[in-house]
Amino acid sequence: MNQSLTLALSKGRIFDETLPLLEAAGITVADDPEKSRKLILPTSDTAIRVVIVRASDVPTYVQYGAADFGVAGKDVLLEHGGDGLYQPVDLNIAKCRMSVAVPAGFDYVSAVRQGARLRVATKYVNVAREHFAAKGVHVDLIKLYGSMELGPLVGLSDAIVDLVSTGSTLRANHLVEVEQIMDISSRLVVNRAALKTKREKLQPIIEAFERAARSE
Ligand code: ATP
Ligand code: MG
Repeated sequence: MNQSLTLALSKGRIFDETLPLLEAAGITVADDPEKSRKLILPTSDTAIRVVIVRASDVPTYVQYGAADFGVAGKDVLLEHGGDGLYQPVDLNIAKCRMSVAVPAGFDYVSAVRQGARLRVATKYVNVAREHFAAKGVHVDLIKLYGSMELGPLVGLSDAIVDLVSTGSTLRANHLVEVEQIMDISSRLVVNRAALKTKREKLQPIIEAFERAARSE
């Protein structure tokens, strides 16, 4: 049986932080996606290749079986819905948190207490909708695809829901974090059919990732 595997990764932090996990499974990637324009990268195992896709596209490639497995942030998985994906391991990489931030000086607590209707700009509309609904806060969500920090600065929104790690981007734009919604890390995602048909090849890699993630 053909047990060749395709792994979907996004370049940047996910690729960088997955490399040591691959190495723990005895797999090295020769190319650096930051330097090469190649979207398909061979590895030291001729039966395993890496495809470079947008972070938010990883679940889609894996769901449709175009990639057998991949690495995606919890933020991306929550927005995608996780259909057709098996999520066996929290890899404990690309850690950050999803938070609500507002311009310094905006009294968020009072606005919420007074039942004001808030305009919230975010890439994470599903998570944001659930968060504010659970708190009983009325919001108009404005979908953005990036640079959420700009929203409140130009009057697009009162608040943003975005990922925060050090907080330096927020500070640079005079925004303050007023609520932490959840901790975020990246997970291994596996195509459900591949898990059965390619188990022999996949299982040792999943286990190596699991051990490496635990010893981080
Ligand atoms: P793109 O840059 O292509 O628009 P993206 O911003 O989602 O997409 P990355 O910045 O590489 O891509 O982020 C990939 C994943 O890493 C995110 O889905 C999230 O889980 C995590 N992440 C994002 N920002 C941070 C951060 N500041 N610190 C740690 N992890 C982060
Ligand atoms: Mg980014």
